[in-house]
Amino acid sequence: MIGITSYGGYIPRLRLSRMSIFQNMGWFAPAIIMVAQGERSFCNWDEDSLTMAVAASRDCLGGMNKSAVDAVYLCSTTLPFADRLNAGILKTALNLKDEIHAADFTSTARAGTTALINALSMVRSGDRKQVLVTAADKRLAKTAYFYEMWFGDGAASLLVGESDVIAEFLGSYTVTSDFVDHYRGSDSQYDYMWEERWVRDEGYSKIIPEAVTGLFNKLSISMHDVDKLVFPCFFKAEHGKIAKKLGATPEKVMDNLHEVCGETGTAHPLVMLVHALEDANPGERILVAGFGQGCDTLYFQVTEAVKEVPARQGIKGPLEKKKTIENYPKFLKFRDLLQTEMGIRAEAPTQTAMTVLWRKRDMLLGLVGGKCTECGTPQFPRMDICINPECRAIKAQEPYEFADVPAYIKSFTGDLLAVSVDPPAIYGMIQFDGGGRFMADFTDCELSDVRVGQRVAMSFRRRYTDKERGFSGYFWKAVPLPGDEAEAGVAEEIRFDGQVAIVTGAGAGLGRVYALELAKRGAKVVVNDLGGARDGSGEGSRSPADQVVEEIKALDGEAVANYDSVATAEGGQAIVDAAIKAFGRVDILINNAGVLRDKTLVKMEPENWEAVLDVHLKGAYNVTRSAFIKMRENRYGRIILTTSAAGLYGNFGQTNYSAAKMGLVGFMNTLRLEGEKHNIKVNTVAPAAGTRLTEDVLPPDLFEKLKVEFVAPLVLYLCSEQCEENGMIFNAGMGYFNRAAIVTGPGTVIGDGTQVPTLEDIHKHWDAINHLSGAQEFPNATAAFGPMLDAFSPKEKEAPAEAGAKLTVKGIFARLPDAFQADKAAGVDVVFQWDISGAEAGSWYITVKDGACEVTEGSHSGPTTTIKMADRDFVKLIAGELDAMSAFTTGKLKIEGDLMKSQLIEKLFRY
Ligand code: NAD
Repeated sequence: MIGITSYGGYIPRLRLSRMSIFQNMGWFAPAIIMVAQGERSFCNWDEDSLTMAVAASRDCLGGMNKSAVDAVYLCSTTLPFADRLNAGILKTALNLKDEIHAADFTSTARAGTTALINALSMVRSGDRKQVLVTAADKRLAKTAYFYEMWFGDGAASLLVGESDVIAEFLGSYTVTSDFVDHYRGSDSQYDYMWEERWVRDEGYSKIIPEAVTGLFNKLSISMHDVDKLVFPCFFKAEHGKIAKKLGATPEKVMDNLHEVCGETGTAHPLVMLVHALEDANPGERILVAGFGQGCDTLYFQVTEAVKEVPARQGIKGPLEKKKTIENYPKFLKFRDLLQTEMGIRAEAPTQTAMTVLWRKRDMLLGLVGGKCTECGTPQFPRMDICINPECRAIKAQEPYEFADVPAYIKSFTGDLLAVSVDPPAIYGMIQFDGGGRFMADFTDCELSDVRVGQRVAMSFRRRYTDKERGFSGYFWKAVPLPGDEAEAGVAEEIRFDGQVAIVTGAGAGLGRVYALELAKRGAKVVVNDLGGARDGSGEGSRSPADQVVEEIKALDGEAVANYDSVATAEGGQAIVDAAIKAFGRVDILINNAGVLRDKTLVKMEPENWEAVLDVHLKGAYNVTRSAFIKMRENRYGRIILTTSAAGLYGNFGQTNYSAAKMGLVGFMNTLRLEGEKHNIKVNTVAPAAGTRLTEDVLPPDLFEKLKVEFVAPLVLYLCSEQCEENGMIFNAGMGYFNRAAIVTGPGTVIGDGTQVPTLEDIHKHWDAINHLSGAQEFPNATAAFGPMLDAFSPKEKEAPAEAGAKLTVKGIFARLPDAFQADKAAGVDVVFQWDISGAEAGSWYITVKDGACEVTEGSHSGPTTTIKMADRDFVKLIAGELDAMSAFTTGKLKIEGDLMKSQLIEKLFRY
């Protein structure tokens, strides 16, 4: 049995609503309103017939044995090269073997069906075992022409062979006649169309039935033997009429995808066939016809194997994953039909060195890198020396295909300066699972949707066009996959490269693990430890700190030891000085040093009280103050304080320790306010771990389970740039993490605020005073006074904004100070003038200076940046319904003055 063994499809992501063509060009060609329904597919600016063919072929070959393919036919009338084997580029991009028969089928709209008949004949003759037939077209039409509406871009691919056949080939029939419904001269980019009525009546309506009837006669079948009739015809009424003339009932006629895609030229019979196969049941019989200077017809019967085809995109997949735009000029620009000034940078030479292209053909066209045969590390590009520092094997790389390896985004940028048809140019580092990374251009995405950690798929795209020499250069780009994050473990790695951390009491217990983990993730660490006894007594010892430094160095990390006590101001200063001397800065401080002197209060002599407060509370003050001064200079800092359940909740015999530990929470509450505007964040951790401090407190089995390593991840996260928290308390132990907070009950009012309530009044209202339901946290002491003042304030309390409440321009500016992100405003000194037009017209200016923000109604005399918008667009922008970049590029948002500073707005305000 011979026939189709696999299928694949590709429709570009972009759709243009046909109505937008009319809206832009209806003034000139009012008649196009008649066909302005639905949408058509169109290529991104870096796509063409060849890139679409690669995409459809990859879809078709998914899960198949590529090495068995021994012929590849590429069918299109819009191939990028008139004299260079385009199928040869396709073969290289797909990494098919060299001993392959490759051919271009072109110059007629039925080239796709002709190639398919040829492929089937080759397999039947036994000359070839597996032939890949791929058709793709991206046809241009003149502006405001019916054909601009009717055409679409797309590709389809079929694998033909003799085993695992999903649709058995039962026969074909062809008529050829030089019927010129349209033609494209070899020096023209547009089709010349003859009169439609004649094309319909003499062409489609006669030639297709002639070929179908010929097939019926040849195979002695009739329309009763056809379950699905597949034939393109963009004249809607004619499509139905021809089917009727052939005796096909409407349910047999496959949709020509006019409403959702448009006609994809050479590819269209195959696009429709793939669409039919996607839903086909075993036993179904499909008749396909391809029209163009005659007509090809082919007859298939679907087999049981159709159910075994591996999951693929086909035509249904890309039809669903679409992005519809109304921006007609963008459509023209993407098709290079609109001349725009691209700037001097665009004039950089683009000549392709054929020598390099030949030498590196598998890398450039096939995205083939290397894999070390000794250690298995993949790398891109392939080089003579293995990139693995542990291996470094020489000339041990074998070819390794990256195109289908899962990858994710490690970093990215949107570059408005780089030359791009669709600015900003988005590019970044992509990391392949299992190893290998490179800086890739991103495509088919909007900057606002791209995220670090997001999955990407590799896509073969046009990288540049050398118009002077008529050459298109291709390479692979990354397509971010919406909503697809890399799994845990391969997501963005949090690192501390270049940062300097001080960890006090790092010679043992929790501190040691913090220091080691920070160093493993790239931080340079000051390992401080006095090395004293558990209660802080004795002379101290250098060895705990020295040992941890040695451990870090053994891991190739950087660290210095410090032996000062945190308990004195001089000690605190000396610890910070050690960091500056060794590494020049301080980014992270973990106040961890601790001692215990447990006694009940009566037995607690002043020296035991003071010794504990000196290390924990005063110690944190001593080191933090010196470090804070340095962090403020750098406008960056992360500070950790170590509290304890004993302080947060109480523990018998630990009044000194509990007081010190809760004192640290008060210290944090205020320090976070002072650090906020300098981008210094301070948080507190209450660990639970088996260490010297807890060995005689915890039962042995629990001591074993409470491993110190379980606390470190939370502490390190709070030390990272990624951490946005400030002024929070977290419990951590054994892998259980939660937040603790000081909350305040809603309370009650007794009296009118002029008369002092009596003790009896208090007694009477005790439950109302005491309860915590509806308790809330306050960001600072002033805010905590709010409910008290409000309780006696005669003014109406402002109703909270209801979800979905209508936003007004005035309301937005009134609430803007609440949306201000003071921690993002370090060093910012700007005035943003907003001029809003429309029914809610008005002017406001926002002054951001010294970490504060002020909103004033009116116009500023010298704003840094002026932003002009219509009221409705402004509200949409704030509500998150309008993307700032697209508002700017579509002219809805106009910017005068310092354009770069305007980019701060998104950072400074989170509405
Ligand atoms: P640990 O005794 O193993 O480590 C504390 C380290 O601090 C010791 O190496 C010690 O030499 C050092 N140190 C003591 N006084 C110092 C000083 N004046 N200057 C410099 N270094 C000094 O104890 P751990 O359990 O790892 O404790 C770390 C922190 O966690 C402490 O603040 C402790 O109160 C807190 N904590 C621990 C637990 C727990 O379950 N282990 C619970 C709550 C709070």
